[in-house]
Amino acid sequence: MILHPTYDVNAAGHLTAAGLDTVELAREFGTPAYLLDTDAVRAMCRLYKSAFHDFFGPASTPAFAGKALCYKGLYRLIAEEGLAADCVSPGELVTAHAAGFPMAKVFFHGNNKTDADLALALDLGVGHIVVDSPDELEALAQIAAGKGAKPRILLRITPGIDPHTHKKIITGNVDSKFGMAIATGQADSFVKAALACPFVTLDGFHCHVGSQIFDIEPFRDACDIMLAFLARTRQTTGFEAPVLNIGGGFGVRYTERDPAIDYRANIQALGTEIDRMCALHGVKKPAILMEPGRSIVAAAGCTLYTVGSVKTIPGFRSYVSVDGGMPDNPRYALYQSAYTVVNASRAAEKAAFPCTVAGRCCESGDLLAEDVSVAKPSRGDILAVLVTGAYNYSMASNYNRIPRPPVIELSGGKATVAVRRETYDDLIRLDV
Ligand SMILES: *Cc1c(COP(=O)(O)O)cnc(C)c1O
Repeated sequence: MILHPTYDVNAAGHLTAAGLDTVELAREFGTPAYLLDTDAVRAMCRLYKSAFHDFFGPASTPAFAGKALCYKGLYRLIAEEGLAADCVSPGELVTAHAAGFPMAKVFFHGNNKTDADLALALDLGVGHIVVDSPDELEALAQIAAGKGAKPRILLRITPGIDPHTHKKIITGNVDSKFGMAIATGQADSFVKAALACPFVTLDGFHCHVGSQIFDIEPFRDACDIMLAFLARTRQTTGFEAPVLNIGGGFGVRYTERDPAIDYRANIQALGTEIDRMCALHGVKKPAILMEPGRSIVAAAGCTLYTVGSVKTIPGFRSYVSVDGGMPDNPRYALYQSAYTVVNASRAAEKAAFPCTVAGRCCESGDLLAEDVSVAKPSRGDILAVLVTGAYNYSMASNYNRIPRPPVIELSGGKATVAVRRETYDDLIRLDV
């Protein structure tokens, strides 16, 4: 096993993913290519479902955050596993709908949903709209009134928590573009406005404190603050929220330096805290929702590349250039995210060649990893970047007019194309 159960080395000395030889997969499907071990994704769904059932109660459910990875086949898998889904854009809604996902189990997020987005959500029968601001509440009320609909909503509340994670992915702070803050009193008026609106049904509250969080503390703090808010709201308005959605954010092990996470133990700890807070405030335990994205799909995915050149600059460093880069994985360029890189063609050899892995774009910042060590590669070797299942395909672009790689699902010893590779024709299709 390398880092996660999905990855190992076979007798040929090649990296395997879900038991399949990645060098053979590269030959069959070409590179770059995203691989996804869907059995591992299902295992994570089941882990979340059973932990939620045991520690949050039978009314509680995990909702997969589609922004981590979004294509029709994945929504079908998520539906089969019985999870709800969190969508953050009309494009994600349309994808879920096209996959036959039960739209009543969808939560629709976003800090700026347009009138068209809101109308689409109502037309598609989205279960809950997570209303982000009073402006949006007013717009939704008008659109719903026009359609004779009465959508169920949650209100996005900002609990004001710094989860000690990367600044760009902190979203629970008071100074945030998302939601209305408790600390400023704006959350209270938001609730009153929603309760007074005859065109929506308020079901509860939502918050999201950040992403790639290893520590249980920010989640515990969020539960404490949100349950205290729920109790206070009952006192001031008589409304006792039946639903509390505490967002996503559990971390994932990208390198040996990251700790391994016991998700079930974390959920148990949160369940205990929620029970304690409900008893303390004398409120009925709401249905608890969480929206894991990264932790469901990240570890199950890896990206295969072909090495094009290995250049050593004496006194500086060695660059290994591959046939992908920031268009298929912008996370290093955006956040200097650390990854584990393996020479899949020589996975049994010692990883003793220190290097920087560079993409193929005309952009010096187009790197996938700096100062990593792999078994010494040469042109034609297959390089694998592990744990790319989340925020890679979903963040991919066509920068430099590079076609997006395919998504290849691996399950039960078989590999199937779930998203085909973009062609040059796809690239120019929209050009008039
Ligand atoms: C990003 C996001 C998630 C998913 O976060 P992960 O870190 O991938 O688990 C869930 N809910 C909301 C509202 C988000 O913005």
